[in-house]
Amino acid sequence: MGNEQVTRQESIENTFGSNVFNDAALRTRLPKNVYKALKKTIDEGLPLDASVADVVANAMKDWAIEKGATHFTHWFQPMTGITAEKHDSFISPTSDSQVIAEFSGKELIKGEPDASSFPSGGLRATFEARGYTAWDCTSPAFLKDGTLCIPTAFCSYTGEALDKKTPLLRSMEALSKQAVRVLRALGNQTATRVLTTVGPEQEYFIIDKKLYDQRKDLILTGRTLFGAKPPKGQELEDHYFGCIKERIAGFMHEVDTELWKLGVLAKTKHNEVAPAQHELAPIFSTTNVATDHNQLTMETLKKVAARHGLVCLLHEKPFAGVNGSGKHNNWSMSTNDGQNLLDPGKTPHDNEQFLIFLTAVVQAVDEYSDVLRASAANTGNDHRLGANEAPPAIISIFLGEQLTDIFAQLENGGAKSSKSGGELRIGVSTLPALPKDTTDRNRTSPFAFTGNKFEFRMVASSASIAGPNTVLNTIAAEALSRIADRLEKAKDIDSEVQSIVKEIVTKHKRIIFNGNNYAEEWVKEAEKRGLPNIKSTVDAIPVWIKDATVKLFEKHSVLSKVELHSRYEIYLENYIKQINIEALTMLHMAKRQIVPAVVQYVSQIAETIGKVKTASSKASTGVQEELLVKLTQTLDGFSKNIDSLEKALEDAEKTAGDTLKHAQIYRDVVFATMGKLREDGDKLETIVDSKIWPFPTYADILFNV
Ligand code: ADP
Ligand code: MG
Repeated sequence: MGNEQVTRQESIENTFGSNVFNDAALRTRLPKNVYKALKKTIDEGLPLDASVADVVANAMKDWAIEKGATHFTHWFQPMTGITAEKHDSFISPTSDSQVIAEFSGKELIKGEPDASSFPSGGLRATFEARGYTAWDCTSPAFLKDGTLCIPTAFCSYTGEALDKKTPLLRSMEALSKQAVRVLRALGNQTATRVLTTVGPEQEYFIIDKKLYDQRKDLILTGRTLFGAKPPKGQELEDHYFGCIKERIAGFMHEVDTELWKLGVLAKTKHNEVAPAQHELAPIFSTTNVATDHNQLTMETLKKVAARHGLVCLLHEKPFAGVNGSGKHNNWSMSTNDGQNLLDPGKTPHDNEQFLIFLTAVVQAVDEYSDVLRASAANTGNDHRLGANEAPPAIISIFLGEQLTDIFAQLENGGAKSSKSGGELRIGVSTLPALPKDTTDRNRTSPFAFTGNKFEFRMVASSASIAGPNTVLNTIAAEALSRIADRLEKAKDIDSEVQSIVKEIVTKHKRIIFNGNNYAEEWVKEAEKRGLPNIKSTVDAIPVWIKDATVKLFEKHSVLSKVELHSRYEIYLENYIKQINIEALTMLHMAKRQIVPAVVQYVSQIAETIGKVKTASSKASTGVQEELLVKLTQTLDGFSKNIDSLEKALEDAEKTAGDTLKHAQIYRDVVFATMGKLREDGDKLETIVDSKIWPFPTYADILFNV
């Protein structure tokens, strides 16, 4: 190794986690007994003593101040989907008009931000504005821009979850409880907790800020509302895994460094399918930490982009006709002694355990595919799911040929062999080694088994991964709880495992599909199988308050009926607001930018026609006249659609009383009319002089950086 390489390696090691109050910092800075007490709280969920909290808070403050911090904040994740923080300084006045730096255990454990301006879906009447934040000690505190950030959960004064983290933590608890029951029944006496692990792959677009600033739609809605197809799109597929350009490489390098400082295990980065699209994937961690880290990743991407004169777009579909962005949520379960429960393993006993946990997920996903679908629904994802690129809106599971074959044999009375020739009898012999799906073998499946984890590919690129993982954990907990009920009563565990697996396979095999999920035939086939096809966010949201959903979430104490109803309200309102903003932005661009530009061009042409005619009676003005007719006709249609959209918005307001109906009108009328307005707008873009066109085009934006 050359010297330069050594230094670089050392510097990564020094950088990594340097802004995190992690386990190493805790160990060196806390008295042994305090460290032990805190670890018990972190690892086993035991309540934290007030005196312990005081010592931890003080150590945290000293650490933060040494690193130049002046403030602290309770960092939380309200239902807006982004993070929120309210900064307090450490200073505390003394009697002699001086100040000292102070931070108490009480301040660490509990905060009281004004909750009135965060969405609560009616949970918290405005006069009872107080909510509180509670320290989540399972996710380490970190430093960001001179502020000590303490990850917290955010609740109403009466204890209802006002955020995305509280239900996530509850769902992890629920899954752990049920999974440990199953492990015990299978003879495991050592594991005391089961954690879910997540590695979210994040897709995003990077564009030039100068161009971004010229587009109201990007600024206000995160996506383009107009824009004709560029002469070159992604057809050449020359961007995917292509060489990363220098300006982008500089940006990515800085993103990595910033993320490493925050302890985020940013690992791979590459160009994606669409021009200007990229991906960043971390190494997986426990769900709770992975969720916090994904929030930090999105924030860092945006922040660092700005430093480079770039803008990071996290929207699911910034450009029509170009591939959109998603998040691949790689998910698994592992014991606190380090066993991945979705790893087939090498011994017959491992195989038995693997098949039980695998089939539990199959059952969970089939029974609650609608809830899982709802967890990926947002306004942006409506442009992807079901359209011809991202996974369709129908949930199915890709298992791969080998496992599907094993499943088929289990269904017919116990597997004896597998396609690769290995011998298989549950609990007696071993599974053949399963190939890990590292290739892009089936990119079309929304929920794919990839060797030792499931990859949920529907997740929205801009959204928090808390929602989808809360659902995954809860539905898996439910399936495992029913399996545990049976195993705990069984006399012969092996044969009970055999019959449980067989029953689940028989009952839920309809959810398994290894073919092309984009094909038209699959939509028909899925319908025959009775799989739900929930096409839009507005159709998905009511799933949150279905009886079966309420029963599921209440049984596992993840979300109460009241909390589910509040989410239902918030999601609907959010949908309405977003479409409303998009419609108003479109009208602004149409009336104040496109129409004036076209009018200017029309009068230019008319003038030229006059001039040509004056200059020579023999000269032809046919081309100009034809163009003039085309322009004015298209403008006419465009203008009519402006009127229609304005009327649609007015009419929509009349249905404001009933939130669901209101949202449906926004989708069926407002959103539909926006599509028509766009058609004419994009047509105009292709015939108006590019020097006059009022904002940068797709070709300008996508191929600029
Ligand atoms: P891909 O082919 O999709 O790139 P990788 O094996 O590189 O697959 O993994 C993608 C993501 O899955 C990474 O973030 C990785 O850390 C994560 N991952 C791997 N194992 C697990 C696991 N047991 N639980 C959760 N995520 C995992
Ligand atoms: Mg992947």
